Amino acid sequence: MDRSRDDLKARFENVIERIEKAAGKAGRSFEDIKIIGVTKGVDIESIRFANDLGLKAIGENRVQEARAKYGLLGRDVEWHMIGHLQSNKINHAIRIFDLIQSVDTLELARDIDARSRRIGRVMPILVQVNVASDEKKFGAAADDLYDILIEIDRLEGVKVEGLMTIAPYAEDPRDVRWCFRKLRELSEEMAGIGLKRADMRFLSMGMSGDFEAAIDEGADIVRIGSAIFGERGYNKP
Ligand SMILES: *Cc1c(COP(=O)(O)O)cnc(C)c1O
Repeated sequence: MDRSRDDLKARFENVIERIEKAAGKAGRSFEDIKIIGVTKGVDIESIRFANDLGLKAIGENRVQEARAKYGLLGRDVEWHMIGHLQSNKINHAIRIFDLIQSVDTLELARDIDARSRRIGRVMPILVQVNVASDEKKFGAAADDLYDILIEIDRLEGVKVEGLMTIAPYAEDPRDVRWCFRKLRELSEEMAGIGLKRADMRFLSMGMSGDFEAAIDEGADIVRIGSAIFGERGYNKP
Protein backbone atom coordinates (compact mmCIF):
# COMPACT_ATOMS: atom_id res chain seq x y z
CA MET A 1 0.00 0.00 0.00
CA ASP A 2 1.50 3.33 -0.95
CA ARG A 3 2.02 6.26 1.32
CA SER A 4 -0.93 8.36 0.19
CA ARG A 5 -3.29 5.45 0.83
CA ASP A 6 -1.87 4.98 4.31
CA ASP A 7 -2.44 8.67 4.94
CA LEU A 8 -6.00 8.56 3.64
CA LYS A 9 -6.78 5.51 5.75
CA ALA A 10 -5.33 7.16 8.87
CA ARG A 11 -7.27 10.37 8.25
CA PHE A 12 -10.51 8.51 7.58
CA GLU A 13 -10.16 6.42 10.74
CA ASN A 14 -9.36 9.54 12.73
CA VAL A 15 -12.51 11.26 11.44
CA ILE A 16 -14.63 8.22 12.30
CA GLU A 17 -13.17 8.19 15.80
CA ARG A 18 -13.81 11.90 16.29
CA ILE A 19 -17.40 11.54 15.08
CA GLU A 20 -17.98 8.61 17.43
CA LYS A 21 -16.60 10.64 20.28
CA ALA A 22 -18.61 13.75 19.45
CA ALA A 23 -21.78 11.68 19.08
CA GLY A 24 -21.15 9.95 22.40
CA LYS A 25 -20.55 13.24 24.14
CA ALA A 26 -23.82 14.61 22.78
CA GLY A 27 -25.68 11.45 23.84
CA ARG A 28 -26.31 10.55 20.24
CA SER A 29 -25.70 7.46 18.19
CA PHE A 30 -22.89 7.31 15.61
CA GLU A 31 -25.22 5.47 13.23
CA ASP A 32 -27.55 8.47 13.15
CA ILE A 33 -24.91 10.70 11.62
CA LYS A 34 -24.41 10.50 7.90
CA ILE A 35 -20.90 11.22 6.68
CA ILE A 36 -20.54 12.88 3.30
CA GLY A 37 -17.00 12.72 1.99
CA VAL A 38 -16.53 15.92 0.02
CA THR A 39 -14.70 14.88 -3.13
CA LYS A 40 -14.28 18.07 -5.16
CA GLY A 41 -10.87 17.87 -6.78
CA VAL A 42 -10.34 14.30 -5.48
CA ASP A 43 -9.33 11.59 -7.95
CA ILE A 44 -11.39 8.46 -8.61
CA GLU A 45 -8.86 6.06 -7.10
CA SER A 46 -8.90 7.90 -3.76
CA ILE A 47 -12.69 7.95 -3.78
CA ARG A 48 -12.81 4.21 -4.49
CA PHE A 49 -10.32 3.58 -1.72
CA ALA A 50 -12.36 5.65 0.76
CA ASN A 51 -15.43 3.75 -0.38
CA ASP A 52 -13.63 0.46 0.39
CA LEU A 53 -12.81 1.84 3.84
CA GLY A 54 -16.52 2.40 4.43
CA LEU A 55 -17.34 5.85 3.07
CA LYS A 56 -20.77 5.44 1.54
CA ALA A 57 -21.70 8.93 0.40
CA ILE A 58 -19.87 11.68 -1.46
CA GLY A 59 -20.54 15.36 -1.99
CA GLU A 60 -19.69 17.33 -5.12
CA ASN A 61 -19.89 21.08 -5.77
CA ARG A 62 -20.00 21.01 -9.54
CA VAL A 63 -22.31 19.06 -11.78
CA GLN A 64 -19.68 18.88 -14.51
CA GLU A 65 -17.18 17.18 -12.21
CA ALA A 66 -19.86 14.92 -10.74
CA ARG A 67 -20.91 13.77 -14.22
CA ALA A 68 -17.40 12.66 -15.07
CA LYS A 69 -17.08 10.77 -11.80
CA TYR A 70 -20.57 9.34 -12.02
CA GLY A 71 -19.63 7.71 -15.30
CA LEU A 72 -16.97 5.75 -13.41
CA LEU A 73 -18.50 5.22 -9.97
CA GLY A 74 -22.18 5.00 -10.80
CA ARG A 75 -24.30 3.81 -7.88
CA ASP A 76 -21.35 2.42 -5.88
CA VAL A 77 -21.68 5.56 -3.77
CA GLU A 78 -24.51 7.85 -2.75
CA TRP A 79 -24.39 11.29 -4.45
CA HIS A 80 -24.93 14.64 -2.76
CA MET A 81 -24.96 18.01 -4.48
CA ILE A 82 -23.53 20.58 -2.09
CA GLY A 83 -22.56 23.45 -4.40
CA HIS A 84 -24.48 26.22 -6.07
CA LEU A 85 -26.67 24.67 -8.77
CA GLN A 86 -27.12 26.53 -12.05
CA SER A 87 -30.43 26.00 -13.76
CA ASN A 88 -28.82 24.78 -17.00
CA LYS A 89 -27.31 21.85 -15.07
CA ILE A 90 -30.52 20.67 -13.41
CA ASN A 91 -31.30 17.97 -15.95
CA HIS A 92 -28.02 16.24 -15.19
CA ALA A 93 -28.23 16.89 -11.46
CA ILE A 94 -31.59 15.21 -11.00
CA ARG A 95 -30.28 12.07 -12.67
CA ILE A 96 -27.09 11.84 -10.65
CA PHE A 97 -27.81 13.09 -7.16
CA ASP A 98 -29.65 11.32 -4.37
CA LEU A 99 -30.00 14.59 -2.46
CA ILE A 100 -29.55 18.17 -3.63
CA GLN A 101 -28.50 19.97 -0.45
CA SER A 102 -28.02 23.41 -1.94
CA VAL A 103 -31.47 24.66 -2.95
CA ASP A 104 -31.37 28.30 -1.96
CA THR A 105 -34.18 30.01 -3.87
CA LEU A 106 -37.81 29.30 -4.66
CA GLU A 107 -36.98 29.81 -8.32
CA LEU A 108 -34.40 27.01 -8.26
CA ALA A 109 -36.84 24.72 -6.43
CA ARG A 110 -39.44 25.41 -9.14
CA ASP A 111 -36.96 24.61 -11.89
CA ILE A 112 -35.97 21.35 -10.22
CA ASP A 113 -39.64 20.53 -9.69
CA ALA A 114 -40.55 21.04 -13.34
CA ARG A 115 -37.68 18.96 -14.66
CA SER A 116 -38.08 16.22 -12.07
CA ARG A 117 -41.75 15.79 -12.86
CA ARG A 118 -40.84 15.48 -16.52
CA ILE A 119 -38.82 12.35 -15.75
CA GLY A 120 -41.22 11.06 -13.12
CA ARG A 121 -38.93 11.75 -10.20
CA VAL A 122 -39.57 13.32 -6.83
CA MET A 123 -36.22 14.94 -6.07
CA PRO A 124 -35.16 15.00 -2.41
CA ILE A 125 -33.72 18.40 -1.48
CA LEU A 126 -32.45 20.41 1.46
CA VAL A 127 -32.93 24.13 1.65
CA GLN A 128 -29.63 25.93 2.14
CA VAL A 129 -29.84 28.73 4.67
CA ASN A 130 -27.34 31.57 4.92
CA VAL A 131 -27.60 31.70 8.70
CA ALA A 132 -24.72 34.13 9.13
CA SER A 133 -26.02 36.47 6.36
CA ASP A 134 -22.61 36.15 4.72
CA GLU A 135 -22.66 38.21 1.51
CA LYS A 136 -20.16 35.92 -0.14
CA LYS A 137 -22.24 32.80 0.44
CA PHE A 138 -25.35 31.39 -1.19
CA GLY A 139 -28.36 30.42 0.85
CA ALA A 140 -31.83 31.67 1.67
CA ALA A 141 -32.10 34.32 4.36
CA ALA A 142 -33.43 32.91 7.63
CA ASP A 143 -36.22 35.49 7.54
CA ASP A 144 -37.41 34.24 4.14
CA LEU A 145 -37.39 30.57 5.05
CA TYR A 146 -41.02 30.35 6.12
CA ASP A 147 -42.32 31.86 2.87
CA ILE A 148 -40.02 29.75 0.71
CA LEU A 149 -40.95 26.51 2.44
CA ILE A 150 -44.68 27.17 2.21
CA GLU A 151 -44.30 27.50 -1.57
CA ILE A 152 -41.86 24.64 -2.09
CA ASP A 153 -44.16 22.36 -0.12
CA ARG A 154 -46.68 22.64 -2.95
CA LEU A 155 -44.26 21.39 -5.60
CA GLU A 156 -44.81 17.70 -6.23
CA GLY A 157 -41.57 17.09 -8.05
CA VAL A 158 -39.41 17.90 -5.02
CA LYS A 159 -39.44 16.82 -1.41
CA VAL A 160 -37.83 18.88 1.33
CA GLU A 161 -35.94 16.69 3.78
CA GLY A 162 -34.35 19.37 5.91
CA LEU A 163 -31.92 22.27 6.01
CA MET A 164 -28.27 22.84 5.21
CA THR A 165 -25.87 25.60 6.13
CA ILE A 166 -22.23 26.53 5.68
CA ALA A 167 -20.85 28.26 8.76
CA PRO A 168 -18.43 31.13 8.31
CA TYR A 169 -14.80 30.19 8.60
CA ALA A 170 -13.51 30.48 12.15
CA GLU A 171 -10.19 29.67 13.72
CA ASP A 172 -12.04 28.42 16.77
CA PRO A 173 -15.18 26.33 16.06
CA ARG A 174 -16.74 27.67 19.26
CA ASP A 175 -17.19 30.94 17.41
CA VAL A 176 -19.59 29.39 14.87
CA ARG A 177 -21.59 27.19 17.20
CA TRP A 178 -24.39 29.77 17.31
CA CYS A 179 -24.79 29.23 13.58
CA PHE A 180 -25.48 25.51 14.04
CA ARG A 181 -27.80 26.20 16.94
CA LYS A 182 -29.71 28.72 14.86
CA LEU A 183 -30.17 26.20 12.04
CA ARG A 184 -31.49 23.62 14.50
CA GLU A 185 -33.92 26.15 15.95
CA LEU A 186 -35.09 27.11 12.47
CA SER A 187 -35.63 23.46 11.65
CA GLU A 188 -37.68 22.92 14.81
CA GLU A 189 -39.70 26.01 14.06
CA MET A 190 -40.36 24.97 10.45
CA ALA A 191 -41.40 21.49 11.59
CA GLY A 192 -44.28 23.20 13.36
CA ILE A 193 -45.75 25.40 10.61
CA GLY A 194 -47.97 22.71 9.14
CA LEU A 195 -46.07 21.77 5.99
CA LYS A 196 -47.80 18.83 4.32
CA ARG A 197 -45.02 17.07 2.47
CA ALA A 198 -41.78 18.47 3.80
CA ASP A 199 -40.02 16.49 6.48
CA MET A 200 -37.51 18.40 8.59
CA ARG A 201 -35.47 15.31 9.34
CA PHE A 202 -31.97 16.31 8.26
CA LEU A 203 -29.66 19.04 9.45
CA SER A 204 -26.63 19.17 7.17
CA MET A 205 -23.97 21.20 8.95
CA GLY A 206 -20.35 20.86 9.96
CA MET A 207 -17.19 20.53 7.85
CA SER A 208 -13.62 19.49 8.60
CA GLY A 209 -12.94 22.39 10.94
CA ASP A 210 -16.15 22.38 12.93
CA PHE A 211 -18.02 19.06 12.66
CA GLU A 212 -17.76 18.24 16.35
CA ALA A 213 -19.53 21.45 17.34
CA ALA A 214 -22.13 20.78 14.63
CA ILE A 215 -22.78 17.25 15.92
CA ASP A 216 -23.14 18.62 19.41
CA GLU A 217 -25.80 21.00 18.07
CA GLY A 218 -27.69 18.23 16.30
CA ALA A 219 -26.17 17.71 12.83
CA ASP A 220 -27.41 14.53 11.12
CA ILE A 221 -25.26 15.07 8.04
CA VAL A 222 -21.65 16.26 8.17
CA ARG A 223 -19.75 17.20 5.00
CA ILE A 224 -16.08 16.44 5.38
CA GLY A 225 -13.46 17.08 2.75
CA SER A 226 -9.91 17.92 3.80
CA ALA A 227 -9.97 15.99 7.10
CA ILE A 228 -10.46 12.83 5.00
CA PHE A 229 -8.83 13.56 1.66
CA GLY A 230 -6.15 16.05 2.69
CA GLU A 231 -5.83 19.74 1.94
CA ARG A 232 -7.12 20.89 -1.43
CA GLY A 233 -5.02 23.05 -3.63
CA TYR A 234 -8.05 24.87 -4.96
CA ASN A 235 -11.81 25.09 -4.96
CA LYS A 236 -12.52 26.37 -1.49
CA PRO A 237 -16.25 27.12 -1.34
C1 LIG B 1 -15.75 21.99 0.36
C2 LIG B 1 -17.01 21.90 1.12
C3 LIG B 1 -17.10 21.15 2.30
C4 LIG B 1 -15.91 20.45 2.91
O1 LIG B 1 -14.94 21.33 3.34
P1 LIG B 1 -13.72 20.85 4.25
O2 LIG B 1 -13.37 22.02 5.05
O3 LIG B 1 -12.64 20.42 3.31
O4 LIG B 1 -14.20 19.71 5.07
C5 LIG B 1 -18.32 21.06 2.92
N1 LIG B 1 -19.42 21.68 2.43
C6 LIG B 1 -19.38 22.40 1.30
C7 LIG B 1 -20.62 23.05 0.82
C8 LIG B 1 -18.17 22.53 0.62
O5 LIG B 1 -18.14 23.27 -0.49
